[in-house]
Amino acid sequence: MERSDLAPLPAGFLERCRAVLGPAGLVDDPQSIEPYVSDFWRQHRGRTPAVLRPADTEQVAAVVRLAAEAGVPLVPQAGNTGLVHGGIPDASGRQVVLSLERMTRIRAIDPRGEHIVVETGCVLETVQQKAAAIGRLFPLALGAQGSCRIGGNLGTNAGGLNVLRYGMMRDLVLGLEVVLADGRVWDGLRALRKDNTGYDLKQLFIGSEGTLGIVTAAALRLFPAPRDRRTCWLGIDGPKVALDVFELFRAEAGETISSFELLTGFGVEAACANLPGVRRPLPEPHPWHLLVELSWSFEDGLAEKLDAVLERAVEMGLVRDGTRAESEAQRANMWRIREGQSEATRHMGFIVRSDVTVPIDRIPELVERMAGWASATAPDVTLIPFGHVGDGNLHFNFIAPPERVDALKPMLLDRLYDEVTALGGSISAEHGIGRLKRDALWRRRSALDRELMTRIKATLDPRGILNPGVILPVEPASEERP
Ligand code: ZN
Repeated sequence: MERSDLAPLPAGFLERCRAVLGPAGLVDDPQSIEPYVSDFWRQHRGRTPAVLRPADTEQVAAVVRLAAEAGVPLVPQAGNTGLVHGGIPDASGRQVVLSLERMTRIRAIDPRGEHIVVETGCVLETVQQKAAAIGRLFPLALGAQGSCRIGGNLGTNAGGLNVLRYGMMRDLVLGLEVVLADGRVWDGLRALRKDNTGYDLKQLFIGSEGTLGIVTAAALRLFPAPRDRRTCWLGIDGPKVALDVFELFRAEAGETISSFELLTGFGVEAACANLPGVRRPLPEPHPWHLLVELSWSFEDGLAEKLDAVLERAVEMGLVRDGTRAESEAQRANMWRIREGQSEATRHMGFIVRSDVTVPIDRIPELVERMAGWASATAPDVTLIPFGHVGDGNLHFNFIAPPERVDALKPMLLDRLYDEVTALGGSISAEHGIGRLKRDALWRRRSALDRELMTRIKATLDPRGILNPGVILPVEPASEERP
């Protein structure tokens, strides 16, 4: 990339930023910029003239003030592990990346008040470890936890593996500190459990993907750390039975369920064949599989409870076969199969990924409808739905022949999003909207939805300098098709 390709920034802007941030706070040579402009899967890249790397809230506020004065659009970025291109700049070369990666302080941790106050450049796994060190749990857990950062988790309202029990990121936040679009700092960093004082302003910023403000710190809820954890693997006939098993677990094991994951037989066999060291937990293949994890705060006794539920499931004729992990290695093997679903199939074609949600009892219908449609319309495509069925959330992967992917991809996603919408679901369960799903969202939202979102954006970011083009179109479209 030649610097001269890029649209010029207002004269003196970078120099003024450098004066605020110091030499470590500004990156502008093309090679060092590269990691900040490519997406997680390296399938997409944007362009930026520079990356700002403030070290504290005052520096964030100062550079946002400079950007507001000069009309320079900013793209807030944390760990850059997002999947919807919400944290990387567009192709214009005008958007400047503002990275939170140097803001990694743990400001406070309180075991009795059960909360931790962190800056938003903290890596998720670090926060989990800090909590564990005082006998507490920070329950947000997802594949990218070793590199994703709290700012991105907040921006996208991240979900992951423990949502069923502890909720999404939104449910784990007590307070926020936010730099607004004019550079003022909003101090909403309270850690109260109960606070009914009018509008819950912090919730506006969570899930807004950096379009309404730049979150610089967060007070996060902690929970008692579970002492006993048990994991099992079940072979079943299909998604309908999965819901019956879920109901049984809900009735018998209630709040101890932390994960309830559904996988296809195809995906499981692919993982066992292609991921080194991975073995099928059950001796025989089955059409579908469940991975269920329970945990609680007592020292022991959970294995017996789990065995009782499994026996009941067998008596009721719900499961074909089942096994409980007897060691950490067996548990890790089960989770490796679940987490490796995309990796295990990537050599079979181009993987079109998605992340959708429907009311839980509509999951079987969604799977059937998509399978029926695909076998008639795109028989060369393999469907691999998997994921957090307990939350009604499926990651619906398609394996498409690479030579047809340009034609197939929009068709597959459009069809999926239409089916999901018709079933009362959502086109993004946990990854967010970013730039990738923006038009798909905008087409399916009501005129009033769009008006409200546009008005909130205009109130908090009247000049449109915060992550323009993410979630909302840059120029709010007048009347489009519904
Ligand atoms: Zn997920």
